[in-house]
Amino acid sequence: MAPVSWSLLPDSARIDAGGGLEIGGCSAAALAAEFGTPVFVYDEGHLRRRCQEAVAAFGRERVVYATKAFLCAAMARLAHEEGLLLDVATGGELFVALRSGVPATSCVLHGNNKSLDELKMALHEGVRHINVDSFDELDRIEYLYSQGAPRARVQLRITPGVHAHTHEYIATGQDDSKFGFNLANGDAQRAVDRARRSGAMELVGLHCHIGSNVFAAESFGHAARLMAAFAAPLGLPELTLGGGLGVAYVQGEEAPSLGRWGEVVLGACREAGVEAAVFVEPGRSIVASAAVTLYTVGTIKDIPGIRRYIAVDGGMSDNPRPVLYGSGYEAFLARAPGAERPARARIVGKHCESGDVLIFDAALPEGVKVGDLLVTPVTGAYGHSMGSNYNKVPRPPVVFVRGGQARLVVRRETYEDLMRCDVG
Ligand SMILES: *Cc1c(COP(=O)(O)O)cnc(C)c1O
Repeated sequence: MAPVSWSLLPDSARIDAGGGLEIGGCSAAALAAEFGTPVFVYDEGHLRRRCQEAVAAFGRERVVYATKAFLCAAMARLAHEEGLLLDVATGGELFVALRSGVPATSCVLHGNNKSLDELKMALHEGVRHINVDSFDELDRIEYLYSQGAPRARVQLRITPGVHAHTHEYIATGQDDSKFGFNLANGDAQRAVDRARRSGAMELVGLHCHIGSNVFAAESFGHAARLMAAFAAPLGLPELTLGGGLGVAYVQGEEAPSLGRWGEVVLGACREAGVEAAVFVEPGRSIVASAAVTLYTVGTIKDIPGIRRYIAVDGGMSDNPRPVLYGSGYEAFLARAPGAERPARARIVGKHCESGDVLIFDAALPEGVKVGDLLVTPVTGAYGHSMGSNYNKVPRPPVVFVRGGQARLVVRRETYEDLMRCDVG
């Protein structure tokens, strides 16, 4: 197998004078020595450029960053500084965004089962708008208004009946879905009628989301046309065409760029006569390839005729995607990023499960040894955010690198942190 493809690495990744990996002008070996492993290393310039590309394609305050992909104070501020809005799907995500200094007017509240408290918080803080997902939620907004909450600006989430080609757990646009108001069975129209009649809310637009990690730009065009046909006669000022643009995780995958996505989505809208302001909601495509995870190899086991196991000091607690979705990743050694990878091994973590796998059948260079620094690229989305304390493993730190400077933005959890909530 060829060396890891450079296109999977953060923009600033280089081979340094000693032949090792460098990101943002910082050597991976030095980062591991300073911050320990596992560690998430984000190229800050890469994050900013992806935000800028999205804004160039769709416009300022038209790109809503889906914070569930990766959220911490530094990321919330970065996205806000670059002119993105923030999509928060829970009270917790809203709290983190607000505490990080992002104004509520730059936040949009999502979620298929928002509680009364979450809606109350969003209304009183004054979020830009709420994406309403159900008739029960319309009831709750009306109840809160009757109790003195401000009038809500709302978009209605519509399920357009598009089956995006992605993993079934993250496909959301099909009819059989827990999300949104179904277009085909008339619920979407009933929700529009009700929201328009209600004094508790101002209906400003429609929203749809067809799924995550969608590679076919044309799926977005298809959803855009269906939504446009429904939205046009309503004359609403806003239309959100969510749907997470796919990213390449492994060798040979190719995803459309943010610019290309913009052309397809806005082109389809133009052709369909959409006059509303068009919003999009990228998460993964902003953050995934901005980061790598550095691990230390701890144990190597050869089972003759079966396979080699290489165990690292993290696992499903810092990247549950392989276990959840069977997702693939690449791996390489920080000391030899350009090396051919003729060897094979299963990369596993340190958790007490056979299912704790990071890479089922990884291509690796010959000569991997205990103590080596192993790198998995494209771990910037849904790694840190889906991480857990399983086996009471403290969560890894997050480091932003740029211009030779490394900035710790989330510290590693301590053993004391593991008992913060124990009161008995
Ligand atoms: C998850 C999600 C996104 C972002 O998906 P990505 O695949 O990370 O780009 C956007 N909008 C909504 C409503 C989502 O739930």
